[in-house]
Amino acid sequence: MKKSAYKRVVLKISGEALAGKKGFGFDFDVLKKIALEVKDLIAMEVEVGLVVGGGNIWRGRTGEGMDRSTADHMGMLATCINALALQDALEGMGVMTRVQTAIEMKEIAEPFIKRRAVRHLEKGRVVIFAAGTGNPYFSTDTTAALRAAEIEADVILLAKNVDGVYDKDPNKYSDAKKYDKLSYIEVLEQGLQVMDSTATSLCMDNSIPILVFGLETEGNIKRAISGEKIGTLVCKK
Ligand code: UDP
Repeated sequence: MKKSAYKRVVLKISGEALAGKKGFGFDFDVLKKIALEVKDLIAMEVEVGLVVGGGNIWRGRTGEGMDRSTADHMGMLATCINALALQDALEGMGVMTRVQTAIEMKEIAEPFIKRRAVRHLEKGRVVIFAAGTGNPYFSTDTTAALRAAEIEADVILLAKNVDGVYDKDPNKYSDAKKYDKLSYIEVLEQGLQVMDSTATSLCMDNSIPILVFGLETEGNIKRAISGEKIGTLVCKK
């Protein structure tokens, strides 16, 4: 079995990815596929923290005309639904997991406690971080950056629908150029669609590398973890 280039990772899965081609709710084949890939990482003795988005169910900005905090609370609850779906898919394959939420709901999941999260990771359990940061006006990208800093992850694996970062939308422009490597400042200055600026700044301030890659190609998470040159690496240049 290939060795991992990283010991501890945060894998960020957007809510959208869980919906597959349906665009809303769950595509159970996608859930299964992600769970299988995470299972491979555990077999490679990689410690995996998962941060999941909520866009397949609800995003704060969907609630036009609503109170922003209320709409964002709904978004954070959406991430909890997704976390339970991922937990179920993983445990169905024999992978041990814990869901930890930033908003207490102790009948359903543990509250986020850093030291406890680290202990779970050391024992080979996948920790699924749900309910975002627990605060409105933030995103699950920022959650990934925050949890990665807290648990001292080596890298954030940012699984996307595109296979890296481009200078323009590759679905619209055939001459779009893919970047192999970018600095945080380049991402911020050029407004590249990697993470939102809060998340990117947090990664920059804490020197957390971000590897952006496509989820669609099977085995890509494993490739990313093995140090194969895929996607785009955002780091200190
Ligand atoms: N959210 C929030 N605070 C957080 C994380 C998420 O308020 O710390 C809300 C916000 O409304 C966001 C929604 O939860 O739109 C879903 O998260 P996100 O849009 O990041 O999900 P993704 O785009 O990754 O599916």
